[in-house]
Amino acid sequence: AKKSGRNLVCFFDPKMEISIINRVVLERDLLIALEHNQFQLYYQVQVDSSNTPVGAEALIRWNHPQRGIVSPLEFIPLVEETGMIIEIGQWVIDSACRQLNAWQQHVNTAGLSLSINVSAKQFHKADFVDIIKKSIDKYSVNPKLLKIELTESVLLNNIQTIIEKMNTLAAIGIQFSLDDFGTGYSSLQYLKKLPLHQLKIDQSFVRELCVDSNDKTIVKTIISMAQSLGLSVIAEGVETEQQQQYLISQGCRNFQGYLFSRPVPIDQFESLIPQIA
Ligand code: C2E
Ligand code: CA
Ligand code: CA
Ligand code: CA
Repeated sequence: AKKSGRNLVCFFDPKMEISIINRVVLERDLLIALEHNQFQLYYQVQVDSSNTPVGAEALIRWNHPQRGIVSPLEFIPLVEETGMIIEIGQWVIDSACRQLNAWQQHVNTAGLSLSINVSAKQFHKADFVDIIKKSIDKYSVNPKLLKIELTESVLLNNIQTIIEKMNTLAAIGIQFSLDDFGTGYSSLQYLKKLPLHQLKIDQSFVRELCVDSNDKTIVKTIISMAQSLGLSVIAEGVETEQQQQYLISQGCRNFQGYLFSRPVPIDQFESLIPQIA
């Protein structure tokens, strides 16, 4: 009896209860968010080595009625777990394509590429390719301007199916970038087989680039590996000119980070482009 009493106490651990309630509330609020259009895309510029804008990454935000802007770090893991990432991901694809259509019609933004983040669960859905194609058609998007960022976690599935899906999309011009490169699982054998266009150096290697000789070595290796695989390379999390200079000296030609701009709402992004062009 004593034992089950202890179990009972454990079951009603107040901290645990709060976290379950929080989770339930969060899940409910996320469903409401979808219905009420509370998601928003922010855009972070990507530049070349002369700091000319070449594209942007779309980063989701949740505009919560009480909490204000909520970071994706606070809800993406949960929506990946519950499966809600499918609907949210579809919203991201639709919104990004609608935005690309608008950019294609304006002189300042024509030719800018737009990168979207796609979760493993989303990519592995049977209709992923169709969903992308439908949005591209719906908004007459030039497929060459749409870039899909995948993380190495995507590659943990059946590699043949992954290659087929990527090939189908790459055949119509869609580009693929391997996000957070160097932080996860990666086999060079696979890298060679995938129709990738870009490796994205994770910001954890860029952060202390100018003081950490290990990070210098890693970055150097990623860049030369990308070059020998015929891939372009972009560094994320670039915050200082020194970091950018070092990256340039090693052959990196594309950059993203607070040095150029934080992720910003669409209006700010569109007024920023002519300024830094
Ligand atoms: P990520 O794809 O690696 O995106 C880069 C993150 O680094 C972004 O955080 C960006 O705001 C931040 N960042 C950019 N430049 C700098 C810099 O110079 N310094 C520092 N310290 N940080 C910088 P954010 O926007 O909070 O997004 C976090 C993560 O959430 C993303 O990491 C991505 O994994 C996920 N995410 C965002 N939007 C989406 C989405 O639409 N779909 C999915 N599946 N995941 C998303
Ligand atoms: Ca990304
Ligand atoms: Ca990243
Ligand atoms: Ca990351």
